[in-house]
Amino acid sequence: MDAAQETPGMMAEETLDPSDWADVQALSHRIVDDAVGYLSDVRDRPVWREMPGEVREFFTAPLPRSPSPLAAVYGDVARNLMSYPMGNTHPRFWSWYMGSSNFTGALGDFLAAIQGSNLGGGNHAAGLMDSQVVDWCKQMLGFPASASGTLVSGGSMANIIGLTVARNVKADIDVREHGVAAIEKPLRFYGSDQLHACHRKAMEALGLGNRALCRIPTDAGLRIDLDALRAAIAEDRAAGLKPACIIGTAGTVNTGAIDDLRALAKLAHEENLWFHVDGCIGALIAIAPQNAHRVAGIEWADSVALDPHKWLHAPFEVGCALVRDGAAHRKTFAVTPEYLESTPRGLASGQWLHDYGLQTTRGFRALKVWMALKEHGVEKFGRLIDQNIAQAGYLTGLIEAEPRLELAALPTINIVCFRYQPGLAGEALKALNTEIMLRLQEQGIAALSDTTVHGEHWLRMAITNHRTRRGDIDLLVRETVRLGCEIAAEGLASSSGPAPS
Ligand SMILES: *Cc1c(COP(=O)(O)O)cnc(C)c1O
Repeated sequence: MDAAQETPGMMAEETLDPSDWADVQALSHRIVDDAVGYLSDVRDRPVWREMPGEVREFFTAPLPRSPSPLAAVYGDVARNLMSYPMGNTHPRFWSWYMGSSNFTGALGDFLAAIQGSNLGGGNHAAGLMDSQVVDWCKQMLGFPASASGTLVSGGSMANIIGLTVARNVKADIDVREHGVAAIEKPLRFYGSDQLHACHRKAMEALGLGNRALCRIPTDAGLRIDLDALRAAIAEDRAAGLKPACIIGTAGTVNTGAIDDLRALAKLAHEENLWFHVDGCIGALIAIAPQNAHRVAGIEWADSVALDPHKWLHAPFEVGCALVRDGAAHRKTFAVTPEYLESTPRGLASGQWLHDYGLQTTRGFRALKVWMALKEHGVEKFGRLIDQNIAQAGYLTGLIEAEPRLELAALPTINIVCFRYQPGLAGEALKALNTEIMLRLQEQGIAALSDTTVHGEHWLRMAITNHRTRRGDIDLLVRETVRLGCEIAAEGLASSSGPAPS
C-alpha cells in the first residue's frame, strides 16, 4: 500500500500511466490494426480532399480541462485527422519534394518514443545508434570515416549546420566570441539562381544577410554557370570582399538539375573556399547503381546536407549534416569544454551529441532510419531511387507522344516539368494549367505542384515515391488531358471560382 494513500489529509499521488494497462493494450492493438489497414489501403482513397466545415470547427475547440477516455480521444483522431492527410503516403502524390514514409519507420518512431531516450548525448544504446546512422550516411556518400555528422530535423537545418561551420572556418576571426560585426572583410557565399530558399534563411540567421549570398546564373540545363561563378569570385576579391563558400546543388528543387560537383570542388580548392553541397534531393543518388555517376564529386565536399525523409522515405523529421573536418564541426557548436567532456564511467561517459548542432535535447531520429535500412538493405533503397528516375523517363515518353502536352526540358532525375498546351500563351496558359492542377487535387486524382522555369509556368511532378507504379503515371497523363479539354471547353469561365462538379 502507498503510504501517501494511507495518510489522512494527503493527496494521492498521480501519474500519467493508465490505471489499467490491459485496457490500453487492447486499444493499442486496435490502433495498430487500423494503422496497417490505413497504409495497405492508401491507394483506394483520394490523394487529398478538402476538409468540411465541421472538421475545421473541431480544431477550434478550447483547451481540454477534464479527462476523456483514451478510446474517445482516439476516435476523434481517427475521424477528424486521419481522413484528411496531406497525401504524401499516396502513390499519386508528386507535389513539391517529399518522401512517402514507410510502416517500419513508423514503428521506429513509436519505439523511439517508448524508449524515450534524449539524444543530447550520454552513454546509452540510442546514442550509439544515432552515431551509427551518421556513419551509414557517410558510407552511402563515400565520405571518410573521420568526418563528423549529426541528425537534424531536415535538410534546411542540415544546410544551416554546414554553412555555419563554413562561416566560422572562413571568417579569420573567432566569430563565436566576437560576432559577425567583427569580421573585417564581408564574407561572400555563392550558389546558383536555383538555390533552395533555406539558404537565404540560413544567411539571414547567420547574421551575414541575404546579400552576402551571390546567385550565379544557370546554363540551359539550370546548372550553375562555372565561368560566371569564376568571374563573380574574382570581382568580389577585387572589391575587397572575402569569398568564403561555394554551395553546389545536387538536385535543384525546381527541375532536379545537378551542378557539376567535381568542377565546383576543384574550383573551391583552387580558390581556398569551403565547398558545401545541398544534397537534400540528390545526395542519396550515390546509392543508386544506374544514376550514381550523376553526383560524382559529392564525396569531395567539405560539408553536405542530405535528407533521409526524402529519398529514404523515413517518417518526418530527419535530415543529416556531414562535415569532412570533424574538429571544425565540433569547434563550431561545442559548449562543453574538452576537459569536462564526460565522466570516465556511467551515464555521462558517452559522447555529447549536442556539441554538433544547435539543439540541446534531441529526439531519437535514428531508429526509424536504422530499422528500415536494416530490413531492406541499402541496395533496395538504391534501386527505388533508380526506379523513380526511370518512372520520370517513362512519363517523359508519354508527354512526348501526346501532342496536347508540352515538356519543359528532358528531366535529369525524377522531376518533370510539363504543361497542357492547346495553343495558348502567357496568363491564359498559366490559368488553364493551374486549374488542371487544382482539379487533379480536388478530385483526389493526383497531387502535382507548379513552378516557373526561365519565366515560364509549368506543372511540376516530383516522383519521390516508392508506391508509384507506371499505371499511376498513365492515369495522370490521361486525366491531365481530360481536364485540359474540359476546362478549355468551359472557356476558363470557372478559373477563378470553385470547380464545377
Ligand atoms: C527539401 C529541400 C531542402 C529543405 O529540406 P527540408 O527537409 O524540407 O528542410 C533544401 N534544399 C533542397 C534542394 C531541397 O529539395
